[in-house]
Amino acid sequence: MAKKVARVVGVYRQESFLPQEGAASPPEGVAPGGWEVQPAGEDGFRRRLAACSSLAELEAVAAGCRRCPLRAGARQVVFGEGDPHAGLMLVGEGPGATEDELGRPFVGRAGELLDRILAAAGFRRGEVYITNVVMCRPPGNRVPTDAEMAACLPYLWAKIGLVRPRVLVCLGSTAARALIHPQARITQVRGRWLERDGMAVTATYHPAALLRDPSKKRPAWEDFQAIRDRCRLAVGLGGSVSG
Ligand code: SF4
Repeated sequence: MAKKVARVVGVYRQESFLPQEGAASPPEGVAPGGWEVQPAGEDGFRRRLAACSSLAELEAVAAGCRRCPLRAGARQVVFGEGDPHAGLMLVGEGPGATEDELGRPFVGRAGELLDRILAAAGFRRGEVYITNVVMCRPPGNRVPTDAEMAACLPYLWAKIGLVRPRVLVCLGSTAARALIHPQARITQVRGRWLERDGMAVTATYHPAALLRDPSKKRPAWEDFQAIRDRCRLAVGLGGSVSG
Protein backbone atom coordinates (compact mmCIF):
# COMPACT_ATOMS: atom_id res chain seq x y z
CA MET A 1 0.00 0.00 0.00
CA ALA A 2 2.86 2.39 0.83
CA LYS A 3 4.25 1.82 -2.66
CA LYS A 4 0.89 2.75 -4.19
CA VAL A 5 0.74 6.00 -2.22
CA ALA A 6 4.30 6.89 -3.26
CA ARG A 7 3.31 6.38 -6.90
CA VAL A 8 0.26 8.59 -6.52
CA VAL A 9 2.27 11.26 -4.75
CA GLY A 10 5.00 11.08 -7.41
CA VAL A 11 2.55 11.77 -10.21
CA TYR A 12 0.81 14.44 -8.21
CA ARG A 13 3.94 16.43 -7.39
CA GLN A 14 4.87 16.86 -11.04
CA GLU A 15 1.65 18.55 -12.03
CA SER A 16 0.14 21.96 -11.64
CA PHE A 17 -3.58 22.58 -11.70
CA LEU A 18 -3.47 26.35 -11.63
CA PRO A 19 -3.64 28.37 -14.86
CA GLN A 20 -0.14 28.56 -16.31
CA GLU A 21 1.18 31.74 -17.86
CA GLY A 22 0.74 31.71 -21.63
CA ALA A 23 -1.29 28.48 -21.59
CA ALA A 24 -4.96 29.15 -22.30
CA SER A 25 -5.75 25.45 -22.31
CA PRO A 26 -3.93 22.25 -21.43
CA PRO A 27 -2.24 20.34 -24.24
CA GLU A 28 -4.00 17.57 -26.14
CA GLY A 29 -7.37 18.31 -24.50
CA VAL A 30 -6.22 16.78 -21.25
CA ALA A 31 -6.49 18.81 -18.08
CA PRO A 32 -3.86 18.88 -15.33
CA GLY A 33 -4.23 15.82 -13.17
CA GLY A 34 -5.03 13.69 -16.20
CA TRP A 35 -8.72 14.60 -16.36
CA GLU A 36 -10.26 14.54 -19.81
CA VAL A 37 -11.88 17.80 -20.75
CA GLN A 38 -14.65 18.44 -23.26
CA PRO A 39 -12.84 19.57 -26.38
CA ALA A 40 -15.65 21.47 -28.15
CA GLY A 41 -15.36 25.15 -27.27
CA GLU A 42 -13.04 24.37 -24.40
CA ASP A 43 -10.46 27.01 -25.32
CA GLY A 44 -13.06 29.76 -25.31
CA PHE A 45 -14.48 28.54 -22.03
CA ARG A 46 -11.04 28.43 -20.41
CA ARG A 47 -10.27 31.93 -21.64
CA ARG A 48 -13.56 33.16 -20.22
CA LEU A 49 -12.67 31.73 -16.82
CA ALA A 50 -9.10 33.04 -17.03
CA ALA A 51 -10.49 36.53 -17.72
CA CYS A 52 -12.35 36.54 -14.39
CA SER A 53 -10.43 38.67 -11.95
CA SER A 54 -12.63 37.98 -8.93
CA LEU A 55 -14.74 35.23 -7.43
CA ALA A 56 -17.83 37.36 -8.05
CA GLU A 57 -17.08 37.44 -11.79
CA LEU A 58 -16.44 33.72 -11.83
CA GLU A 59 -19.67 33.08 -9.94
CA ALA A 60 -21.61 35.09 -12.53
CA VAL A 61 -20.18 32.86 -15.28
CA ALA A 62 -20.97 29.71 -13.29
CA ALA A 63 -24.55 30.81 -12.67
CA GLY A 64 -25.37 30.27 -16.34
CA CYS A 65 -23.44 27.01 -16.67
CA ARG A 66 -24.94 24.05 -18.51
CA ARG A 67 -21.75 22.10 -19.09
CA CYS A 68 -23.04 18.90 -17.56
CA PRO A 69 -26.42 17.22 -16.91
CA LEU A 70 -26.32 17.95 -13.18
CA ARG A 71 -27.62 21.46 -13.75
CA ALA A 72 -30.94 20.13 -15.08
CA GLY A 73 -31.73 18.39 -11.79
CA ALA A 74 -30.45 21.08 -9.43
CA ARG A 75 -32.23 24.15 -8.14
CA GLN A 76 -29.14 26.31 -8.41
CA VAL A 77 -25.37 26.42 -8.78
CA VAL A 78 -23.78 26.33 -5.31
CA PHE A 79 -20.60 28.28 -5.99
CA GLY A 80 -18.84 28.39 -2.62
CA GLU A 81 -18.38 30.91 0.16
CA GLY A 82 -15.94 32.38 2.62
CA ASP A 83 -13.00 34.74 2.72
CA PRO A 84 -11.95 35.39 -0.92
CA HIS A 85 -8.34 35.58 0.27
CA ALA A 86 -8.52 32.73 2.78
CA GLY A 87 -5.34 31.01 3.83
CA LEU A 88 -7.29 27.75 4.20
CA MET A 89 -9.55 26.35 1.49
CA LEU A 90 -11.73 23.26 1.95
CA VAL A 91 -13.13 21.30 -0.99
CA GLY A 92 -15.93 18.76 -0.63
CA GLU A 93 -17.79 16.60 -3.15
CA GLY A 94 -20.98 18.39 -4.18
CA PRO A 95 -24.10 20.06 -2.79
CA GLY A 96 -26.67 17.98 -0.92
CA ALA A 97 -30.39 18.71 -0.55
CA THR A 98 -30.01 21.53 2.01
CA GLU A 99 -27.15 23.12 0.08
CA ASP A 100 -29.16 22.92 -3.15
CA GLU A 101 -32.09 24.59 -1.43
CA LEU A 102 -30.10 27.36 0.28
CA GLY A 103 -27.40 27.88 -2.35
CA ARG A 104 -24.61 27.52 0.21
CA PRO A 105 -22.02 24.77 0.64
CA PHE A 106 -21.86 22.59 3.77
CA VAL A 107 -25.01 23.77 5.54
CA GLY A 108 -26.72 20.40 6.10
CA ARG A 109 -25.87 17.90 8.82
CA ALA A 110 -22.39 17.31 7.43
CA GLY A 111 -21.89 21.06 7.26
CA GLU A 112 -22.88 21.47 10.89
CA LEU A 113 -20.33 18.84 11.84
CA LEU A 114 -17.69 20.58 9.74
CA ASP A 115 -18.47 23.86 11.54
CA ARG A 116 -17.96 22.13 14.89
CA ILE A 117 -14.66 20.59 13.76
CA LEU A 118 -13.45 23.95 12.42
CA ALA A 119 -14.42 25.70 15.66
CA ALA A 120 -12.68 23.03 17.75
CA ALA A 121 -9.54 23.59 15.67
CA GLY A 122 -9.84 27.33 16.26
CA PHE A 123 -11.15 28.46 12.87
CA ARG A 124 -14.05 30.79 12.23
CA ARG A 125 -16.08 29.63 9.23
CA GLY A 126 -15.88 33.10 7.71
CA GLU A 127 -12.08 33.09 7.62
CA VAL A 128 -11.82 29.98 5.42
CA TYR A 129 -13.12 29.34 1.90
CA ILE A 130 -15.44 26.36 1.35
CA THR A 131 -16.54 24.87 -1.96
CA ASN A 132 -17.14 21.57 -3.76
CA VAL A 133 -15.82 19.68 -6.78
CA VAL A 134 -19.20 19.92 -8.54
CA MET A 135 -21.43 22.91 -7.95
CA CYS A 136 -24.79 21.33 -8.86
CA ARG A 137 -26.42 18.66 -6.72
CA PRO A 138 -26.11 15.13 -8.10
CA PRO A 139 -29.52 13.37 -8.00
CA GLY A 140 -30.03 11.40 -4.81
CA ASN A 141 -26.65 12.67 -3.57
CA ARG A 142 -24.84 10.12 -5.71
CA VAL A 143 -21.13 10.48 -6.39
CA PRO A 144 -20.55 12.68 -9.45
CA THR A 145 -19.39 10.86 -12.55
CA ASP A 146 -15.93 11.42 -13.99
CA ALA A 147 -17.47 13.40 -16.86
CA GLU A 148 -19.39 15.65 -14.44
CA MET A 149 -16.26 16.22 -12.38
CA ALA A 150 -14.21 17.00 -15.48
CA ALA A 151 -16.85 19.49 -16.63
CA CYS A 152 -16.79 21.37 -13.32
CA LEU A 153 -13.08 21.15 -12.51
CA PRO A 154 -12.03 24.23 -14.52
CA TYR A 155 -14.21 26.30 -12.16
CA LEU A 156 -12.52 24.75 -9.15
CA TRP A 157 -9.05 25.39 -10.52
CA ALA A 158 -10.09 28.98 -11.28
CA LYS A 159 -11.38 29.40 -7.71
CA ILE A 160 -8.14 28.05 -6.29
CA GLY A 161 -6.21 30.40 -8.57
CA LEU A 162 -8.20 33.41 -7.35
CA VAL A 163 -8.19 32.57 -3.63
CA ARG A 164 -4.60 31.26 -3.69
CA PRO A 165 -4.86 29.56 -0.29
CA ARG A 166 -1.70 28.49 1.52
CA VAL A 167 -3.38 25.30 2.72
CA LEU A 168 -5.79 23.27 0.56
CA VAL A 169 -7.81 20.43 2.11
CA CYS A 170 -9.69 17.75 0.17
CA LEU A 171 -12.71 16.52 2.12
CA GLY A 172 -13.31 12.95 1.01
CA SER A 173 -12.45 10.74 -1.94
CA THR A 174 -14.08 12.80 -4.68
CA ALA A 175 -12.07 15.91 -3.81
CA ALA A 176 -8.90 13.84 -3.42
CA ARG A 177 -9.50 12.31 -6.84
CA ALA A 178 -10.08 15.76 -8.31
CA LEU A 179 -7.11 17.50 -6.76
CA ILE A 180 -4.57 14.84 -5.83
CA HIS A 181 -4.87 12.07 -8.38
CA PRO A 182 -7.76 10.55 -10.40
CA GLN A 183 -7.13 7.18 -8.69
CA ALA A 184 -6.51 8.55 -5.18
CA ARG A 185 -8.24 6.73 -2.34
CA ILE A 186 -9.00 8.65 0.81
CA THR A 187 -7.62 5.86 3.00
CA GLN A 188 -4.29 6.12 1.14
CA VAL A 189 -3.86 9.87 0.97
CA ARG A 190 -5.54 11.20 4.12
CA GLY A 191 -3.18 12.79 6.60
CA ARG A 192 -0.39 13.08 4.01
CA TRP A 193 0.97 16.43 2.88
CA LEU A 194 2.09 17.52 -0.54
CA GLU A 195 3.40 20.79 -1.90
CA ARG A 196 1.81 22.01 -5.09
CA ASP A 197 1.70 25.44 -6.71
CA GLY A 198 2.95 26.98 -3.47
CA MET A 199 0.19 25.34 -1.43
CA ALA A 200 0.33 22.67 1.22
CA VAL A 201 -2.28 20.11 0.14
CA THR A 202 -3.81 17.31 2.18
CA ALA A 203 -6.96 15.20 2.44
CA THR A 204 -9.17 13.95 5.22
CA TYR A 205 -12.53 12.25 5.54
CA HIS A 206 -15.66 14.03 4.35
CA PRO A 207 -17.83 15.04 7.34
CA ALA A 208 -20.66 12.91 5.89
CA ALA A 209 -18.39 9.88 6.23
CA LEU A 210 -17.89 10.74 9.91
CA LEU A 211 -21.66 10.80 10.40
CA ARG A 212 -21.94 7.36 8.79
CA ASP A 213 -18.95 5.89 10.62
CA PRO A 214 -18.06 7.57 13.94
CA SER A 215 -14.85 5.49 14.20
CA LYS A 216 -13.39 7.84 11.57
CA LYS A 217 -13.81 10.86 13.87
CA ARG A 218 -10.56 10.34 15.74
CA PRO A 219 -8.31 10.14 12.65
CA ALA A 220 -10.21 13.08 11.12
CA TRP A 221 -9.60 15.13 14.25
CA GLU A 222 -5.91 14.27 14.11
CA ASP A 223 -5.91 15.44 10.48
CA PHE A 224 -7.55 18.73 11.48
CA GLN A 225 -5.02 19.27 14.25
CA ALA A 226 -2.28 18.91 11.63
CA ILE A 227 -4.21 21.29 9.34
CA ARG A 228 -4.43 23.81 12.18
CA ASP A 229 -0.68 23.54 12.78
CA ARG A 230 0.09 24.02 9.07
CA CYS A 231 -2.16 27.07 8.96
CA ARG A 232 -0.53 28.55 12.04
CA LEU A 233 2.82 28.08 10.39
CA ALA A 234 1.72 29.42 7.01
CA VAL A 235 -0.70 32.23 7.69
CA GLY A 236 -1.33 32.59 11.40
CA LEU A 237 -4.82 31.07 11.15
CA GLY A 238 -6.37 28.67 13.59
CA GLY A 239 -6.22 28.17 17.35
CA SER A 240 -5.19 31.01 19.60
CA VAL A 241 -3.31 32.84 16.85
CA SER A 242 -6.35 33.25 14.59
CA GLY A 243 -6.56 36.63 13.00
S1 SF4 B 1 -22.00 20.81 -11.96
FE1 SF4 B 1 -20.53 22.38 -12.62
S2 SF4 B 1 -20.15 21.92 -14.80
FE2 SF4 B 1 -22.05 20.86 -14.23
S3 SF4 B 1 -23.67 22.33 -14.80
FE3 SF4 B 1 -23.19 22.63 -12.61
S4 SF4 B 1 -21.69 24.30 -12.59
FE4 SF4 B 1 -21.75 23.49 -14.70
